Amino acid sequence: MLFGRSQKNPIKIADKQVTQWKYATCGYCSTGCSMEVGLNQAGKPVSSRGVGGADVNRGKLCLKGIMEHELLSSAGRGDKPLLRDQIDQPWAEVNWDSALDKVAGQIKAVQHKYGRDSVAIVSTGQMLTEEFYTLGKLARGLIGSNNYDGNTTLCMASAVSGYKRSFGSDGPPGCYEDFEHTDCLIAWGSNLPEQHPVIYWRFKEAQEKRQFPLIVVDPRVTMLAQNADIHLAITPGTDVVLQNALMHVILDEGLEDQDYIEKNTNGIEALKAEVEKYNPTMAATICGIDEDSIRLVARLYAKAKASMQIWTMGINQSTHGSDGVVGINNLSLITGNIGKPGGTSLSITGQCNAMGTREWSSCSGLPNHRYLENAEDRQEIADFWGIDADFLPTQRGLAQTDIFQAIETGEIKGLWVIATNPLTSMPNTARIRKTMRNLDFCVVQDCYADTETAEYAHVFLPAGTWGEKEGVMTNTERRVNLVTRVAQPHGDSKPDLWIFNQIAERFNEHGKVKFPETSAAVFEEMKLLSKGRLCDISGMTYDLIEQSRGIQWPYTEAQNERGESPVAGGGRLYTEPTTFCYADGKAKLIPLPFVDNNETPDEEFPVWLNTGRLVEHFHTRTKTGKVGNNNKFSPIPFIEINPDAAVQLAVKDGDYVRLVSRRSDAVVMAKHTQRVAKNMIFLPFHFHDCANRLTLGLLDPYSRQPAFKQHAVRVEPIVDQKAAAKLSMEMRGF
Ligand code: SF4
Repeated sequence: MLFGRSQKNPIKIADKQVTQWKYATCGYCSTGCSMEVGLNQAGKPVSSRGVGGADVNRGKLCLKGIMEHELLSSAGRGDKPLLRDQIDQPWAEVNWDSALDKVAGQIKAVQHKYGRDSVAIVSTGQMLTEEFYTLGKLARGLIGSNNYDGNTTLCMASAVSGYKRSFGSDGPPGCYEDFEHTDCLIAWGSNLPEQHPVIYWRFKEAQEKRQFPLIVVDPRVTMLAQNADIHLAITPGTDVVLQNALMHVILDEGLEDQDYIEKNTNGIEALKAEVEKYNPTMAATICGIDEDSIRLVARLYAKAKASMQIWTMGINQSTHGSDGVVGINNLSLITGNIGKPGGTSLSITGQCNAMGTREWSSCSGLPNHRYLENAEDRQEIADFWGIDADFLPTQRGLAQTDIFQAIETGEIKGLWVIATNPLTSMPNTARIRKTMRNLDFCVVQDCYADTETAEYAHVFLPAGTWGEKEGVMTNTERRVNLVTRVAQPHGDSKPDLWIFNQIAERFNEHGKVKFPETSAAVFEEMKLLSKGRLCDISGMTYDLIEQSRGIQWPYTEAQNERGESPVAGGGRLYTEPTTFCYADGKAKLIPLPFVDNNETPDEEFPVWLNTGRLVEHFHTRTKTGKVGNNNKFSPIPFIEINPDAAVQLAVKDGDYVRLVSRRSDAVVMAKHTQRVAKNMIFLPFHFHDCANRLTLGLLDPYSRQPAFKQHAVRVEPIVDQKAAAKLSMEMRGF
């Protein structure tokens, strides 16, 4: 008798007829996986695979990366420039010259009427670094508006701000290899298995070999928390209290590294005075973590030979985001856990090139971590670009979150949105929708024509997407990696670099500022500006980057000339004593008083709303909502609700419910799960007209990043389930 598969059809993997593989770096999250895109005989991208020899992912890709080639032929792409006078009118197709003339003409007209800063530019973390640099040169050097920012303000601004406050500069000091050396890991508000699956795999492989403890701080029992040795289910928005209490125990029990503190930091006395107030007994009443667990974690962390901390949006997207990052850095510094193998504080970035925009876009300063507030930096960049230094502002303008408020008040009249979708990603979207109607002029530049933001545009510029252009991106661990062009831009769309250069021509009197035409030439210009700085890329070339499967910065010209292996280059920052970026080389220990300023549940809105991401989707689903298997696995919004809370509300698993906040309401499906406590629901933010209808988005005072995870809502059962299901399906295009 025959058993098993011999009686069945064997599983066959379809032969995609790949004739050529081209190198790229994944364009979704910041893990920075090296990949290859397979082209068939006709040159069509038909497959994606991980690159085995790449240190980051060692052959692996996650669900998004493995299907990334499909987005090159996905629905909704823009293929012609579009124009209209009023946002409620139908679009007219126009040629590129007409569209670009219109954009330049309208920017000039608005600036002429209302002043230079009345035009705002909101960019992204999705473009290539050369494009960010070129846009920065155009925005700062020619257009001259100070109200220029990226959507990274919704994502990584608190990490940037916290690093600057602690170390004197942005730049994550650690790397993925630290997992292989650490003896203790604390993950703050980070759900690696779903948000950064390949980083999770790197961590898991290292932990299985060496069995170090994983401590997860998260209000929700995330997938990472399910794998933790200790899960601290913290009360939302109280991370700073827990951090202060951990430091209280460490300092009280003499577990700090006094030698490191003395040599490398300033401010220990003021820090001691502040954390003295946060004994674990008192802290437990605020942050909801029992005092024994606080003491246990403090001892585990401080006594380990090398300890690391990672964090993601659970820290950043808070009214205390910047303080939360400084608190993590404080903990690292007092225990001497910076710049050594396995000892670091490593922000896990969100978008594929959020780091590239931090380094080169000039959004919050000038290229390569230079400051607008620093006269020498302004003069150096002005001389390099060939502009008058007085043309540059002396301090940073509005962040993205403040730009929309300035549109509301009439301070900003023109808006250029590039590769981002604030109509879904900003908090309180109903207010943003009204706000957009205040604009005299809006241009949206995106690879997709069907974004919610494009509904408010007067001009649409179709841009090439990932894989349709060449350039570099920087990942979470400062690794610069290459994306090659694997396909031609869709229809008549153009690479963003080409679009910026064309607009620059329309502002560039007598061609006084040089705008190189190719990505490679822009990269050479950036290399010159990086020489001798923390983020030194002067030893890199596209060829070397591809051969090395990415190179961490710094990698200097001298290292290149000495023939130093770029694979080993970079590694960690601040490895030598007193090499922090403040003038005396010392880092700052900063006291962090806790201010309780979040929206919290009350009688009318008794449930915490926690928003976040799913493994299948990226950002506002502009891409993944159209890629078959990504969308099929997660087609509609849902909440996670505790079964006991659901029973009290008479909500069955799979029922639709109405969520109500002080801002608006949303209809979603309910999934029963113990991952959330009785007084909390979790709602993915990816879907339009859903999570961000409910969010308030109070801003962090330093980073201007909104709180997306601490809101109060009410869950209402719906009687007419059929009507609710119909509404939900229709809204998602079914
Ligand atoms: Fe792409 Fe991130 Fe997945 Fe890697 S982990 S394949 S970079 S989405």
